[in-house]
Amino acid sequence: MKSPFDLSIEEMKSYGYKIVDLIVAHYSEVENKKPVSKASREEMDTIFLQEAPENGMPADEVLDFVMDNVMPNSNISTHPKAFSFVPGPSNFISTMADSLATGFNIFSGGWIVSPSAAELEIVTMNWLLKMFNFPVTKGGGIFTSGGSMANLTALVTARRIKCGSDFSKAVIYLSDQAHSSNIKAIRVIGFKEEQVRIIPTDLEFRFSINKLKNEIAKDKLEGKLPFCIIATAGTTNTGTVDPLDAIADICEKENLWFHIDGAYGGAAILSKKGSRTLRGIERADSLTVDPHKWFFQPYEIGCLLVKDASWLSNTFSEKPEYLRDIEGNESEINFYDYGIQLTRRFRALKFYMSIKTYGLKTFKKAISYNIDLAEETEDFLRKSKNWEIVSPATLAIINFRYNPLGLNLSEKELDTLNQQISAKVVASKEALLVTTVLQNQIVIRMCLINPKTTINHIKETLEQCNSFGKEILKEWKK
Ligand SMILES: *Cc1c(COP(=O)(O)O)cnc(C)c1O
Repeated sequence: MKSPFDLSIEEMKSYGYKIVDLIVAHYSEVENKKPVSKASREEMDTIFLQEAPENGMPADEVLDFVMDNVMPNSNISTHPKAFSFVPGPSNFISTMADSLATGFNIFSGGWIVSPSAAELEIVTMNWLLKMFNFPVTKGGGIFTSGGSMANLTALVTARRIKCGSDFSKAVIYLSDQAHSSNIKAIRVIGFKEEQVRIIPTDLEFRFSINKLKNEIAKDKLEGKLPFCIIATAGTTNTGTVDPLDAIADICEKENLWFHIDGAYGGAAILSKKGSRTLRGIERADSLTVDPHKWFFQPYEIGCLLVKDASWLSNTFSEKPEYLRDIEGNESEINFYDYGIQLTRRFRALKFYMSIKTYGLKTFKKAISYNIDLAEETEDFLRKSKNWEIVSPATLAIINFRYNPLGLNLSEKELDTLNQQISAKVVASKEALLVTTVLQNQIVIRMCLINPKTTINHIKETLEQCNSFGKEILKEWKK
């Protein structure tokens, strides 16, 4: 019986090869494109809004339409001048690995359904555990859709292990630089606002230990139950790593769960400089890392590591009747018992294939290059009369401000000036360069985790900023 979805072998090959060609062209020609795209809802509706068609049309025509209209209307996160947010440099091997995983539609939930998929998740998880100096035999982890889901999975686990089913008095601590996904997760799991303490950071954007200790002491005096601290290893704004050892000491002393959100910075463990910056990361109870950021994987893949794998299974195992037959022995892990999803795509494959193909050496080289590039950028900016550094190069992130020497602009003028420079760069579509706010100042931020980015790309964009800056100041004088 032929399925109504079937194509002939020739049709499948011609369609599939065409898509491979398009992806290869995207990889090889990315620099000839502009990283920024901008479109209003109205413009998009004009192109796309229609009822679901009753009758289909030739596959090639749909593909052509998509290539003409969908792809160009999206920022290019792999572009060497995509400096903003956290870029997604990705890599070709993992791109193809994801196509394989999808093509074979492998179910990555239970051992019995796909032993090799479970095994690859165990093996790659062991690689990660070892990288972060977590215990490989006792520890464990799970791939998730991203860092947000890893943080959520961590907090559900922390709450279950520390509080059981009554968390009415539990209090959780995080800094004002912690990623928004943590607050989202806290809300998702039903904590009230009064159970959350957002601790101010110091002048270097690190968790203030003194204020943290004060809050914990106060909560204990009020009969509350401090249960978890979320530290960040590489904040998204500045790349700053919280004082991990000092926080770990507090957690040990107060018997608190220590979660580290390393979604941005965790991968830096693979470089010498990075592993120094991340000292203490091995002391976390749970650690989020995000391979679709600085491990160069395509979306989506996040990861949660824990010191004791049984924490995950004790939190997430449920045994419905229809899953009875597929219970294996303990060593044959069913990853649906380690997290929220039952049906899961085969995320471990791309991680596995890219590390097998390139070797860790290649990842180490790329990450070290990124860290050095940000430092080189800092040196370059410090030598210029037009720029000041607001937060120095840390784990490949740098924040700076256009503030020409001798002009004595007010804070408000500087904010407007930098906002406008960024807006003009983005409007030119030459580079994706947006601002952030640090200590009430609007600053320009660069996140340099793309190994394709060179110092020349950066200098070109700074040159553009310089001339926009001059232009704006000239306008103001009129
Ligand atoms: C990006 C990021 C997250 C969220 O990860 P997603 O993969 O986008 O869900 C969480 N924490 C930090 C520090 C991040 O940089």
